[in-house]
Amino acid sequence: MATVELKGITKTYSGNDVPSVDDLNVRIEDGEFVVLVGPSGCGKSTALRMVAGLESISGGDLFIDEERVNDVAPQQRDIAMVFQNYALYPHMTVAKNMGYPLKVSGLSKDEIARRVKETAEVLQLDEFLDRKPGNLSGGQRQRVAMGRALIRQPKVFLMDEPLSNLDAKLRVYMRSEIAAIQERLGITTIYVTHDQVEAMTMGDRVVVLKDGVLQQADTPKELYDHPANMFVAGFIGSPAMNLFESRLEGDGASLRIVVGEQSVGLPDSVVAARPALASHVGQRIIAGVRPDDCYDAKLSSEYPVRLNARVLLLESLGSEIVAHLDVGVGLVDSGDPDLQELSGDAADAPTAFLARFSPHSRVEKGEDIAMAVDADKLHFFDPASGLAIRG
Ligand code: ADP
Ligand code: MG
Repeated sequence: MATVELKGITKTYSGNDVPSVDDLNVRIEDGEFVVLVGPSGCGKSTALRMVAGLESISGGDLFIDEERVNDVAPQQRDIAMVFQNYALYPHMTVAKNMGYPLKVSGLSKDEIARRVKETAEVLQLDEFLDRKPGNLSGGQRQRVAMGRALIRQPKVFLMDEPLSNLDAKLRVYMRSEIAAIQERLGITTIYVTHDQVEAMTMGDRVVVLKDGVLQQADTPKELYDHPANMFVAGFIGSPAMNLFESRLEGDGASLRIVVGEQSVGLPDSVVAARPALASHVGQRIIAGVRPDDCYDAKLSSEYPVRLNARVLLLESLGSEIVAHLDVGVGLVDSGDPDLQELSGDAADAPTAFLARFSPHSRVEKGEDIAMAVDADKLHFFDPASGLAIRG
């Protein structure tokens, strides 16, 4: 069992001008499951490989159990790692595959058998010990790969996109499997994924990276409820938070946001809860609201804040209706490259404001509607820095 601490960890590959990981500070507590998440190329694998000792550290200090290990060889760090492209020995049984690392390190046959049995129980592989990998499902093979890594009882367990080669259904299943195994073993774990849903469902804590720079490290709930900046706001949650241009007007006691042609009064409770807004009066701010916090006003008397919108498109999913709306103002790009890809390179901003309505909603395509917004759940960002306006 161990803590892992990255203090100012930086990596600049030779020949590169910019660091791939830039001054990263994260402390992982004993037994914690931390997920590193961010778009492809943001430095997740680089960060993990530095912890494993597979990549040299250009700057900063890495501690395992409070001991500085920058210059400790990978084998001496007592760390196990599972990669995206794990390979099992096809001619060996599950038991032999799992026991292999122990055989290499010269343990006795009895001790190996005991540890294989014990590890197989945790991973629920007991029934499959005599099978060969070819006769296992994808999920079982993944568990064998984990077993082979965990059998050495490492202090720290690292996983780099271990589910990306599995099909969507199995991926969802394995998420909860891996999280449950980690909890049973209580082993300090760092898990890397580019998939924010995976990160949010698996991690005790989620560390969001962009361009090698830490954006926010928090519990999934905090990330969702209180994103620190526009990037995290847009990256976490699906469909993504709507971010839109607005202008803050009013005086200390009563504030409104001007959204295109519409002027929307903010309830007193919202103004009271956000004193920091006062210094932005008269200025442009970016407002944000999640699709989940928008309602068909005809079905909801609870939320007095309204935005008028025209329905562009409806996606009826049975349990919900995703409405694509024009609220008369441009949406703002959060800087998430995956979203940019979706919206096409010609348009750098998302095209429509999305709202998740109840399946009982009767709004129609082309209709002008009133949308109710849960104003307590509005987010505000400084357009210059992208940082959340809080407090
Ligand atoms: P991620 O795992 O988040 O997709 P990586 O850590 O693999 O990101 O890469 C981060 C950045 O570092 C990328 O810009 C990538 O091109 C660069 N990079 C990764 N490995 C090397 C390397 N061996 N040499 C030079 N640049 C690299
Ligand atoms: Mg990677």
